[in-house]
Amino acid sequence: MEKVALLKCDEYKVESIEKKLREGFELLGGDDFLRTLIPYNSKVLLKPNLLSIERKESPVVTNYKVFEAVIRIIRDYSSNIIFGDSPGVGDSRKAAELCGLMEVAERYDVKFNSFKDEIHVKLDNSILCKSWNVAKVAYESDVLITLPKLKTHAMAYYTGAIKNQFGCITGTKKAQWHTRMPDAENFCKMLLDLNTLVGTDFAILDGIVAMEGNGPKNGSAKKMNTLIMGKSPSAVDSVAVRLIGYDNPLDTPVLKEVYDSKWGAVLPKDIEVLGEKIENMKQKDFKLCRKGGNFYFKNPVVNNFLKSLIAPDPALIYDKCISCLRCAEVCPEKPNVIKFIEKKGKTIPVWNMNRCIRCFCCQELCPVGAITTKDKFLGKLLKGEGEK
Ligand code: SF4
Ligand code: SF4
Repeated sequence: MEKVALLKCDEYKVESIEKKLREGFELLGGDDFLRTLIPYNSKVLLKPNLLSIERKESPVVTNYKVFEAVIRIIRDYSSNIIFGDSPGVGDSRKAAELCGLMEVAERYDVKFNSFKDEIHVKLDNSILCKSWNVAKVAYESDVLITLPKLKTHAMAYYTGAIKNQFGCITGTKKAQWHTRMPDAENFCKMLLDLNTLVGTDFAILDGIVAMEGNGPKNGSAKKMNTLIMGKSPSAVDSVAVRLIGYDNPLDTPVLKEVYDSKWGAVLPKDIEVLGEKIENMKQKDFKLCRKGGNFYFKNPVVNNFLKSLIAPDPALIYDKCISCLRCAEVCPEKPNVIKFIEKKGKTIPVWNMNRCIRCFCCQELCPVGAITTKDKFLGKLLKGEGEK
């Protein structure tokens, strides 16, 4: 039985968050638990979510006060703490500076790593992917504590403790994985293998302010007053998705794959929730995002044909577009999908949907939220989305 601590914290105040996290560690086993998790002076990597370059209070990235509270606890067990991530686009140092993590890290003598140095490694006990290039520091750290943000995601429906490790793939190389794994099933298997490879040891999910709607970058902030922590990233995610409206965690692609691959705990009967009760913390009217997901069609011809009928398309919100061209830059299928045209005095993207693999990287990384997803009638019908 996996243990997960579910905590209520209604403000981004370091002292309040630290108090709650200490309560959470106490529920999980206290000092003994922490000593086992972090052997004396081991090399600890804190892996926040730095999806893109964001301001301090942005719901896109892990809040700097959660980061500080974690450091204040972990430093009792190790003085060798590093933090880092690799955003989809842009410079990781700049991302860490703007959202406030760098200033906190400097105050506590926590070193920054840009995740630019890679290592080539093999994973023998993989579900799917044996050969990897990942951020060296993620592979070589003794203890990896992931600090995800609770958010919706167009392809994976939800992003949290498991998906946060996708940042261990350096920079724009993430796009290559979307091309190699264009369907949700394999993409999720890849995420599980990646977590096995880097050895995610503990997860602390920042859901004090989460993101709903057009996540993971262009949704809306949603105050959830929630922190979730535990050793099993799948158990932490399972609790999180139940809070936002998935009564069955297997309705989310990553957790379905966890279950199918017997990778970790995901069903409520296998998870002991300590602290708050899920029923009391459930969100009303949380705007889910169920766009990509479970298109589990094996035959590539059928797959492409069905995708064109069912899968939603990226679509432009003309007025928001600032003609920055980033969508084409991040598209793993470039230069075949996104072209630019002039319309009413503005340069805007147009999509060749026959070549689009619906990874939604363009939607995810558009800096101004000018890309949304347009559902097809058949896709809506098949997913029963009309009822949600
Ligand atoms: S859609 Fe977004 S990423 Fe693409 S050009 Fe417009 S603003 Fe830039
Ligand atoms: S156009 Fe967007 S959704 Fe389509 S392949 Fe490129 S990044 Fe992915």
